[in-house]
Amino acid sequence: HPITTDMSTLTKEIEKFAKDKKLEIETLKVREEYRKEFMGNVSHELKTPLFTIQGYLLTLLDGAMEDKNIRKKYLQRAAKGVDRLIYIVKDLDMISKLEVGNLILEEETFDIVELIQGVFEMYEMKAAKKNIMLTFDIPYEPIYVYADKERIQQCVANLVVNSIKYGKTDGTTEISIENLVKNKIIIRVTDNGEGIEAPNLRRLFERFYRVDKSGNRKEGGSGLGLSIVKHIIEAHKEKIYVESVFGVGSEFSFTLEKSTKEAMEANAVDDED
Ligand code: ADP
Repeated sequence: HPITTDMSTLTKEIEKFAKDKKLEIETLKVREEYRKEFMGNVSHELKTPLFTIQGYLLTLLDGAMEDKNIRKKYLQRAAKGVDRLIYIVKDLDMISKLEVGNLILEEETFDIVELIQGVFEMYEMKAAKKNIMLTFDIPYEPIYVYADKERIQQCVANLVVNSIKYGKTDGTTEISIENLVKNKIIIRVTDNGEGIEAPNLRRLFERFYRVDKSGNRKEGGSGLGLSIVKHIIEAHKEKIYVESVFGVGSEFSFTLEKSTKEAMEANAVDDED
């Protein structure tokens, strides 16, 4: 620091210092609140499946084991609880990587049409259980984009899974792709499911935010899916949108950068090296 002799300059500097410190403290306070809330949410989310597993195991030990059918049923339910725990821990791991900024995107050129078809195949059975039709509204021809393929697959998968989870029986999930200006495309995932009330729309992308907070939710999930999608899309410097009408359906959409067939072919040559 240069030596200041002028009193008024000194006073100004002290004031500025105090103001900066105050801001810093405010920021720390907000962060601390956020951390507390986060920890509370995490333990709550973990507790539910843990108690479920404990319940089934204790009942089995208590004598339910003798009955072959009950034994199988309870073990299956306990295993489902373990699946759910793994699912939550994986999501938490992903979100902490994304928030710390440790997620390094591995961008390349790939065909988004092929990726979407792959996701549809993955969730065909899940959709069939509710008799939901998965439709892809484009004639088949490759559309090349430049992005992190694995992460984008996760985004598409999360949106498709949600559209099935919150979609109505005999409903539809439709994906469409449209050209935007400036080398961008927009991918839309539309359902005619339960929809989201306007006041909830704003908070949808927050960690752990779920419209139905009751313990007896029909649908499993961590409440982290959409916040992971948002992080991934924003890490690509792209945009994500949601539009929804309660009782009518929802549409989630995000943009991606277009690429070319030539870039795709160059990729393939690189891979051979
Ligand atoms: P999760 O599905 O694990 O609860 P998400 O972060 O994926 O968490 O979604 C947050 C919440 O947003 C969901 O709990 C649900 O209430 C609402 N939601 C997400 N997608 C849809 C959709 N397609 N239709 C209606 N509600 C949705």
